[in-house]
Amino acid sequence: MRCRHCFSELTHVFIDLGFAPPSNAYLTKDGLKLPEKYYPLKVMVCNECWLVQTEDYTQADELFDSEYAYFSSTSSVWLEHAKNYSNKVIKELNLNEKSLVIEVASNDGYLLKNFINANIPCLGIEPTISTAKVAEGLGIEVLKKFFGEQLGVQLTKEGRQADLIIGNNVYAHVPDVNDFTRGLKAALKPNGTITLEFPHLMRLIEFNQFDTIYHEHFSYLSLYAVRKIMSESGLRIFDVEELPTHGGSLRIYICHQNDPRRTISAVGEMLITEKKFGLQDLKIYADFQSRADLIKNNFLGFLLAQKKLGKKVAAYGAAAKGNTLLNYSGVKTDLLSFICDAAKAKQGKFMPGSHISILPPERLSNADIDYLVILPWNIKDEVVSSTRNLLSINSRYVTAIPTLEIFS
Ligand SMILES: [Zn+2]
Repeated sequence: MRCRHCFSELTHVFIDLGFAPPSNAYLTKDGLKLPEKYYPLKVMVCNECWLVQTEDYTQADELFDSEYAYFSSTSSVWLEHAKNYSNKVIKELNLNEKSLVIEVASNDGYLLKNFINANIPCLGIEPTISTAKVAEGLGIEVLKKFFGEQLGVQLTKEGRQADLIIGNNVYAHVPDVNDFTRGLKAALKPNGTITLEFPHLMRLIEFNQFDTIYHEHFSYLSLYAVRKIMSESGLRIFDVEELPTHGGSLRIYICHQNDPRRTISAVGEMLITEKKFGLQDLKIYADFQSRADLIKNNFLGFLLAQKKLGKKVAAYGAAAKGNTLLNYSGVKTDLLSFICDAAKAKQGKFMPGSHISILPPERLSNADIDYLVILPWNIKDEVVSSTRNLLSINSRYVTAIPTLEIFS
């Protein structure tokens, strides 16, 4: 396989997680009787451009079908994050009723509704029909398509270039990162701004977040690699911020290469930090598998010990990262009683691979749970505060990543 950005041959494995079903392929009761499709889940690193990427195996449209059940609005922390961002960027870029804001992967409109409320024209782009419909219900125009160069050029021809293009947690999900970037370039007004947010590869490695690896994530991004991709499409990163979201993300600000705005020193500083951390050295990538294996072994050891003691363990959060951890660890219904999740679309369904049933959080009360494993560690505090009253006084919480932790 060749690198999706620079086309060098990929020979270095970052991590091999074996085979797994797509993380968002939740099963219905009838679906449990059918065979389940497993795909290889192996991540490579390019030692030319340092883009970390999944090995080729399938088409994107096989994963993001209309059943895709993730609705951004289910997390209150995420909604708050979106609101703060919107207020900040509206002010900084002086956006008004004459501007155009385009959001790629606009999901259920959780972000663009803030621009609608401020009377700023906006356009969502979202190929997932179920979430796009919710956004349309909020009065947001949504193009139900995948974004890329073709759509970027089409928007330009229609006179719909943007003052601001937003891409939150979409850049890592794109199979053809070069084509997507050319689309951003095409759809951007001469003095326009693009902001992208993505989980930072440096934090993924530092905090052993191997569970954020799943098929829908094609790339694991450093500022170094993204800067190189942008630059080859005629775009320039002029500012970068670190965010606590998803265990450590970057928000980058991008303009056309020849935009008069100067590049802020934070960009150069982050590039140095990444280099010092070792992101341009194969060693750090080669060590990652053994660190993930240690987490898997500790987690499995904990579950087996509780099983022997006759304790009851459930989990919270039927999210993609939970699926990676459970499937890589080989956890099934004998070790975890059930998983609860606040998203109604997932309730009554079953986790892909492990086939553990997904129930509403209210089911935790009177379930006599000894331990509740919080799978989405990035919203740990939110989960604790929303479940504390549902659990008995002696129950404890568990997180597996970055290391196994048991707390009250
Ligand atoms: Zn490359």
